[in-house]
Amino acid sequence: MLLIIDPGHGGADPGGGTNQHWKEKDLALQISQYQERRFKELGISVSLTRTTDITLASGQRTNLVKASGAKYCISNHINAGGGEGAETIHSIYSDGKLANSIIDAIAAAGQKKRRVFTRTLPNNPKKDYYFMIRETGTAQTVIVEYGFADNAADTKRLLDHWQDYAEAVVKALCQHMGHPYMTPQKEKTALEKALDVFVQQGIITTPDYWLQNAVPGGMVKGEYAAIMIEKAANKLRGV
Ligand SMILES: [Zn+2]
Repeated sequence: MLLIIDPGHGGADPGGGTNQHWKEKDLALQISQYQERRFKELGISVSLTRTTDITLASGQRTNLVKASGAKYCISNHINAGGGEGAETIHSIYSDGKLANSIIDAIAAAGQKKRRVFTRTLPNNPKKDYYFMIRETGTAQTVIVEYGFADNAADTKRLLDHWQDYAEAVVKALCQHMGHPYMTPQKEKTALEKALDVFVQQGIITTPDYWLQNAVPGGMVKGEYAAIMIEKAANKLRGV
């Protein structure tokens, strides 16, 4: 397993990044499941610490990360507490490159960049403050806070663009790992699928012409339509 994604909170713990539109635990799971699907599409082995709305104690959560053997862990959260924009948090023992790449990618997708930071225990400057960073063994964990649930501008951006920010993290991780990245493939329309068949069968050679013109309110040249009909008929007759 190369990567494990941790949807923050869950079950009895809704998370503080909750507002009238969403609970932090639900949005974190939505983001995580989107990323899981995308990483699988891109051929990256990935798992989740939870796939449903269950309560996970901090020790259970970190044990799942350690047991996965993953090299990277992304812990997804929504912030609260009177700020605006995205934050990433990394270990004091990491160079912060991944955390910086992730926040830059989220900013490039349109979210405000607030800060990248590390935090240590108040009584021990050699230990990371957050258990997901401190107790996850050899996995390199980055906590991603996508925005503030108690900020109106962030709330609007998250409602409209959470998928873009989730995708930005996929892109940043691929680039960090040196893994080829491709944007999500859009499902082909019925016309595109039909044109693919016609091209394969040699009935048409210019699918773009038909895509542009064979649309409601569009016009196709009669002579082109005639050639296509003749070729299609020949195919059907087996000529
Ligand atoms: Zn959280």
